[in-house]
Amino acid sequence: MDALLEGLNDAQKSAVTSPANVVQVLAPPGSGKTKTLTARVAYHINHERLQPWNIIVCTFTIKAAREMKERIKGFVGEKLEAKLILGTFHSVARRFLSRYGHEIGIVKNFGIADTDDSKAIIKRIVTRYQYTMEPGHARSRISRLKAKGTSAESFAATSKKVDDNEFAQIYSSYQEHLKASNLLDYDDLLVRCVELLQRHPSCVSTIQAVLIDEYQDTNNIQYELMKLLAQRTKRITIVGDPDQSIYSFRSAKIQNLYRMRSEFPESIVINLENNYRSSGCILGAALAVIEQDESRPEKALIATHCVGEQPTLRHLATVNVEAQWIVGEIQRTRTLSAGLLNYNDYAILLRSANLSLSIERELGRAGIPYRMVGGKRFFDRAEIKIILNYLRCISNPDNNDAIVGVINTPSRRVGDKTVKGLLEEAEVQKVSLWRLVCDIAQKRKTPATKLSTPSEQGITLFFRLVNNARKKLLPAAGDACNLLDLISYILTQTSFESYLKQTYKENWKDRWANIEELVGQATQMAATLAEGEEAADDALPAVDGIEQRPDTAVDTLSKFLVNVALATEIERDGGEEISQVTLSTIHAAKGLEWPVVFVPAIYDGSLPHSRAENHDEERRLLYVGMTRPDLAFKRTTIPDLATILRRPCPAATDLESARTLLERLEDDKHPATREEIDGEGSSWGASWDDKFNGSGPGDDGGQASIKRRKLESSSSFSTTMHKSSGFSMGSTTMQTVKTGFT
Ligand code: ATP
Ligand code: MG
Repeated sequence: MDALLEGLNDAQKSAVTSPANVVQVLAPPGSGKTKTLTARVAYHINHERLQPWNIIVCTFTIKAAREMKERIKGFVGEKLEAKLILGTFHSVARRFLSRYGHEIGIVKNFGIADTDDSKAIIKRIVTRYQYTMEPGHARSRISRLKAKGTSAESFAATSKKVDDNEFAQIYSSYQEHLKASNLLDYDDLLVRCVELLQRHPSCVSTIQAVLIDEYQDTNNIQYELMKLLAQRTKRITIVGDPDQSIYSFRSAKIQNLYRMRSEFPESIVINLENNYRSSGCILGAALAVIEQDESRPEKALIATHCVGEQPTLRHLATVNVEAQWIVGEIQRTRTLSAGLLNYNDYAILLRSANLSLSIERELGRAGIPYRMVGGKRFFDRAEIKIILNYLRCISNPDNNDAIVGVINTPSRRVGDKTVKGLLEEAEVQKVSLWRLVCDIAQKRKTPATKLSTPSEQGITLFFRLVNNARKKLLPAAGDACNLLDLISYILTQTSFESYLKQTYKENWKDRWANIEELVGQATQMAATLAEGEEAADDALPAVDGIEQRPDTAVDTLSKFLVNVALATEIERDGGEEISQVTLSTIHAAKGLEWPVVFVPAIYDGSLPHSRAENHDEERRLLYVGMTRPDLAFKRTTIPDLATILRRPCPAATDLESARTLLERLEDDKHPATREEIDGEGSSWGASWDDKFNGSGPGDDGGQASIKRRKLESSSSFSTTMHKSSGFSMGSTTMQTVKTGFT
């Protein structure tokens, strides 16, 4: 049989090989949607003679994109895989805009304003004009309008309410500001790409198939983009799960599923029903949550694995006790597993990133390495932002925000008032801040803003730093830009190490270590860009009548910065070489899996969140979190780690006895069956048992299949709560179960 179809079930195979033009695969978590989509990409290449550059694959997170690339590489080989156009919607849009954006007036080497940049810009506008609107609120409203495709002009022209005037002005000043700084925000990437493809369909004339993962979370503009990307052949495969729709705050529309069916009447729907990820017990618990949504159509979800390890529910008094319990469990189970569980087998999934503080503290205290996904992380650290801002100034000096960020860091005696004055002057004159900086340094024109001699000197120093870097370190077209040289130059010119020493007396060493890490990442990212991204960029078609942009050396730097900006969108890449516990928001954990998963802080106000308008969506969020555990020990031969993990630890450090225990268990060959588990799970209470065990592999057929399979593996899922929960799970509300599920 074709290697590509090996290990797929019949429904998955039919989705992979379907000759239909439009295929929708709708299926619950862990049913192999992503696996199927990946195999279909390979099928297009290996069996339908599509070239990788004829195919666009949109994923929701960068991690998912990377994992998919890995899998596709296995089928089609490294060389071809590198030419696939695969990434998040934003990164796909960015590629088309970098290549053809000039056709719609986008200036070469545009920068990307990330969420923090957008907030800062809006805040400045609001302060300057003394508006009353809360900047964060204005930003979300702008984002929602852009997602609907409403421009600042059309909003101003159609809004009738007096209250809207102020917002209309904020929106249009914000757009003007982005334009003056040659920046696009995340929403613009999509909106402008839609505009590009509407006006110049030839940009996608070579695209023959479009595939989309996590389709339930696409919004209107992404839907438009999907249609435009696929406009030539209208060959689209999407996979999704309405029960996991958790991005309505970003205007995601479940209705896009039905819209697609009505706009592409030839589309076929394939359902997958087998879950390959989690144990029956965990699926049962997850289903008991999602089934409380009464508007949800009844759907089958069949556990292919045994009942397995039962999830644990702990009622803990405070966040600190909770953090201690989680960390204790990680240590206990890891020790007991005698090397089978590594730190990267654990994930702690949070309703919101700001819940991480006490957990981070506890992990730190215990010396457990962790990486934070979807929260304030590496690229947000103050010292890293400074260096990135210098790079952004060098790459695109018209970026006012980047200049504001570093013109006086380290101090050059250019005060805030001066910077504010210059910024306003630049706005009035409709020039960039950089233009004024050049005028001052080269004494061409005296600015209206009054400058003291020291600040004039400071501005001149800043000008020289950026200007020299641009002249000397951005090589001629065709040569690769050496990011390493560029960063070293900035570090020396700013005496960055002494700056850190003076500013952060207590932890300057850690911060300096971060800078070293940045240098490492820059080198690595530049190398990847040189191989992968550029190959794919080159793969975009040569189009009649549209001038191709040559890849100049400057592009290496701007691409690096764009990659950093895109990495901040949903998650950030943390080096994965060392084994680390993952700390993530539930949102950013979509589509991913770990053997042991904790979902802390399940109580009214946290999950469901106090500000959440839509409780159904909060419930889906918990469902996404609860369906992340994957069978822990698929990769080992030890049949029943669950049993080991459930026993009390002989002694936290007593590895030897844990090993002996393991060996003995292996010798016994574990006749573990469901009955045994049921016996052990008696403290659950009848209602829990009925609910979860019943919805495992099924009461009759399931029993037989368990006996055949024995208990082959375990996976854990723990929820913790400190107050009362707004959801009920099964027929017992969470807070009444004191000792947890087991
Ligand atoms: P989610 O909704 O969470 O994104 P998904 O439907 O995309 O889940 P995958 O991530 O593709 O599910 O698959 C879940 C797990 O099940 C993976 O570890 C995958 O390798 C495994 N799997 C999928 N299909 C099969 C199969 N036919 N046989 C064995 N394992 C499978
Ligand atoms: Mg998936």
